[in-house]
Amino acid sequence: MWLTVWPVAEVVLRLEDLLFPSIAYVAVLSVDVNDEAVRIEARSTVAGFDCPGCGSWSRRVHSSYLRVPADVPSSGRRVVLCLRVRRFLCPVISCGRRTFAEQMPGLTRRYGRRTERLRSTLAAVGLALAGRAGARMARVFGLSVSRSTVLRLVESLPDPEVSAPRIVGVDEYATRKGRHYGTVLVDVESRRPVDLLPDREASSLAAWLAKRPEVEVVCRDRAPFFAEGATAGASQAVQVADRWHLWHNLSEAAERCVADHRGCLRVLAPDPAQPAPELEKFEDPSGSP
Ligand SMILES: [Zn+2]
Ligand SMILES: [Zn+2]
Repeated sequence: MWLTVWPVAEVVLRLEDLLFPSIAYVAVLSVDVNDEAVRIEARSTVAGFDCPGCGSWSRRVHSSYLRVPADVPSSGRRVVLCLRVRRFLCPVISCGRRTFAEQMPGLTRRYGRRTERLRSTLAAVGLALAGRAGARMARVFGLSVSRSTVLRLVESLPDPEVSAPRIVGVDEYATRKGRHYGTVLVDVESRRPVDLLPDREASSLAAWLAKRPEVEVVCRDRAPFFAEGATAGASQAVQVADRWHLWHNLSEAAERCVADHRGCLRVLAPDPAQPAPELEKFEDPSGSP
């Protein structure tokens, strides 16, 4: 059973603050509540809107329709948002767009099937949990969404603005191990990856570095394409071999050396289970008595 709340003047003010705290020009027309859902009917209060084709402002209403974007739940209830949207006539004859629908900035976007706040909520869930777990978590909140939608919303987020690192670490990463490699660039001071290049070509690294003259140190492995790229793109920077690769190379060299001298080491560190060999035996490799 639906319980209808008829907004009277002072309640309307509070309802709008409650339901659309960050939306500037919105009027709540009605709110209906039942056990599972809250149905909110609302409209924009601006007089006109800019044509997305030519930018001209128009207040000549052509028609109106109901738009029902999915929205975030309220107090554990599903929200059915019914927006009364006007379609305006473009005043410019030469504009290819005869009519256009208004948007409610901060709430809707063109062709958006979800409100902006639902998009950002799902994107935040996706950033924290990725697709599969994100979709499962969203279901707990009462939001039915597929994992591919969660990922798509994360992908559509603008890239965060990162300042150019002073010390940049360069290494390769595999999208398919043994088949396809790219280049990952890391801010060594913040220990965060700052960019990915689709290949591991010297020219790509050089182009990336050339756009960032603030780079003072390039920390890299000993691959020739990285050495070449760093020299070409950041001649001002000092190149250092990074610690991981130094240790890696050192441990490989140590392992090789130990393997080569296996025979000698066996003599010096005899297996405690075996009786100690008589050293005398080995002093004369000719085997003569
Ligand atoms: Zn126009
Ligand atoms: Zn040896």
